[in-house]
Amino acid sequence: MTVFDFDLLVIGGGSGGVRAARMAAQRGARVALIEAQAMGGTCVNVGCIPKKLYSYAAHFAKSFEESHGFGWVGPAPTLDWAALKVNRAREITRLNGIYLQLLKGAGVTVIEGWATLLDAHTVAVGEQRFSANNLLIATGGKPHVPEMAGREHVITSNGIFDLEPFPKRLLVVGGGYIACEFASIFKGLGAQVTQLYRGAQVLRGFDDEIRAFVAGEMRKAGVDLRLNADVASIEKTASGLQVRLADGGSAEVDAVLYATGRVPLVQGLGLEALGVAQKPDGAIQVNDHYQTSVPHIYAVGDVTARIQLTPVALGEAMVVVDHLLGAAPGKAPRSMSYDFIPTAVFTHPNIGTVGFTEAEARERFGAVRVYKSEFKALKHTLSGSSERTFMKLLVDDASDRVVGLHMVGAEAGEIVQGFAVAMKAGATKAVFDSTIGIHPTAAEEFVTMREPVKS
Ligand code: FAD
Ligand code: NDP
Repeated sequence: MTVFDFDLLVIGGGSGGVRAARMAAQRGARVALIEAQAMGGTCVNVGCIPKKLYSYAAHFAKSFEESHGFGWVGPAPTLDWAALKVNRAREITRLNGIYLQLLKGAGVTVIEGWATLLDAHTVAVGEQRFSANNLLIATGGKPHVPEMAGREHVITSNGIFDLEPFPKRLLVVGGGYIACEFASIFKGLGAQVTQLYRGAQVLRGFDDEIRAFVAGEMRKAGVDLRLNADVASIEKTASGLQVRLADGGSAEVDAVLYATGRVPLVQGLGLEALGVAQKPDGAIQVNDHYQTSVPHIYAVGDVTARIQLTPVALGEAMVVVDHLLGAAPGKAPRSMSYDFIPTAVFTHPNIGTVGFTEAEARERFGAVRVYKSEFKALKHTLSGSSERTFMKLLVDDASDRVVGLHMVGAEAGEIVQGFAVAMKAGATKAVFDSTIGIHPTAAEEFVTMREPVKS
C-alpha cells in the first residue's frame, strides 16, 4: 500500500481551505495546507473584512451629519485616511495570526509557497514534493479587468484598500457587488464618485425593484451613477487620469477602480496536464461531492465559480470533510443546499436578500403574492436624511410559503439573516403574520405587511 505524507493536502489558505484543513485535522486526519500569500485568503485580506471595516468608517460621515437633528452641535470631524489604513492593516495582521494559530492548534502542517499539482497525489512547492491520499484545491479567484486602452492605469479591489493618496475623484466601473459597495464606501469616505455600468440597471440577478431602489438611494447619497455607460480609454496626465467614455464624454479622476467580475485562480496549478475538467473561464468542474474529473482531487469555493461567498466556501469545505472522513460522531454527514442562500450587498444603505426574485418566483411558482412596504425609518424623522427603506415579500400562492424576502435599508444584512432561517424552515405567510413584531424597528415591517400589492 502506498504511504502518503498526508491524508489530505489543501491548496489555498482562504475561507474554504482553512475550514477544510482545520476540520479534517480535528477529525484525526494528517493534514497539510499550502498558502502562497497572507493566511485567510481574499475574505480576510482584500475582501469581506477590510471592506466591511471601510464601510463602517464611511457610515460615520453620515452619522456626524445626522447627529445635528438630535441636538449634537459642532463641526464634522475629517477623515485621517492614513490612520484608517494603518488600523485596518493591524487588524488584518491580527486575523492572519489567528488563522495560522487555528491551523497549527488543530495539528495542520502549514507550508508556504505556490503549489503545482504533479499528479493526483503529489504537489510541488518549489523544489519540495508532498504527497497525500486526497488533494483539495481551494485557490479562490482574482479580479478580471477587460482589455482597454490604458488598462495599466486602473486598480482593482486588491489595490483599493491601500490606495495612496486618498482618491478625491474616483471612477468605479461595473455594476455588481464590488462596484456598488465601493462606490458607496468611497462616497461616504468623502470622494467624489462616478460609477459607470454597461447595462440598464446595476446588480443584475437581484430583484428588479431592489435594483432600481438601491440605485435611487445611491444617487441620493451622491454617487453619480451612469447606466448604459462604459470606458473607451484612459490616459495618465499631469493632473490625474483622463478617461474617455464610450458615449464620447470624458472625465478627469484620480483613480479608476475596475470591479468587473472575478475569475478562478488556477494559473500554475498544472490542471491541464492532469486532465482536471475546467469550464471555459478556468473554473474547476466538480460533482455533488466536490470531486473533480480526476479521482482524489477535490475543489471548493471561488475556484469552482459557483456562488462566490465566504459562507458558501465554508459550507462546501465541511461537506468535503464529511465525505472524505465520515461525519462527526453522532452527526449525519453534512450536505450543501444552494437554495435560500441569504446575501447582503454593503451599499449605503445595504441590500439584504434571500430566496427568489419576483421574476424567478413567477416563473417557478406561477401565482405569487407580492407584499411591499416603503417608508422613512424612524431615525430619519429627526436626522434630516431623505433615505428611505424598501421591503418586499414574495409568497407562493398555492402553498402560502414565503419564497422571497428582499430589503434595502439600514442593517438589511443583519435583519435578513434571521428571516433566512425561517424561510429555510419553510415559513408560510400565515407564520409571518402570527409573529409578533419588535417595536419600534424597521424589521417588524416584515411581519406586519397584510395586503398584497399584486397577486
Ligand atoms: P480565497 O479566500 O480567495 O482563498 C484562496 C487562497 O488560495 C488565497 O489565499 C491564495 O493566495 C491561495 N492560492 C491560490 N493559488 C495558490 C497556489 N497555487 N498555491 C498556494 N496558494 C494558492 N463574500 C461574502 O460572503 N461577504 C462579503 O462581504 C464579501 N465581500 C467581498 C469583498 C471583496 C472586495 C471581494 C473580492 C470578495 C468578497 N467576498 C465576500 C467573496 C469572498 O471573499 C470569497 O467568496 C471567498 O474568499 C472565497 O473563499 P475561497 O476559499 O474559495 O478562496
Ligand atoms: P459581479 O459578477 O458581482 O459583477 C461584475 C460586474 O461587472 C457586473 O456588473 C458586470 O456586468 C460588469 N462587467 C463584467 N464584465 C465587464 C466588462 N467587460 N465591461 C464592463 N462591465 C463588465 O462581480 P464583482 O467583481 O462585483 O464581485 C465578484 C463576486 O464576489 C460577487 O459576484 C460576489 O459573489 C462576491 N462578493 C460578495 C460580496 C458580498 O457578499 N457582500 C461583496 C463583494 C464581492 P453585467 O451584469 O452586465 O455582466
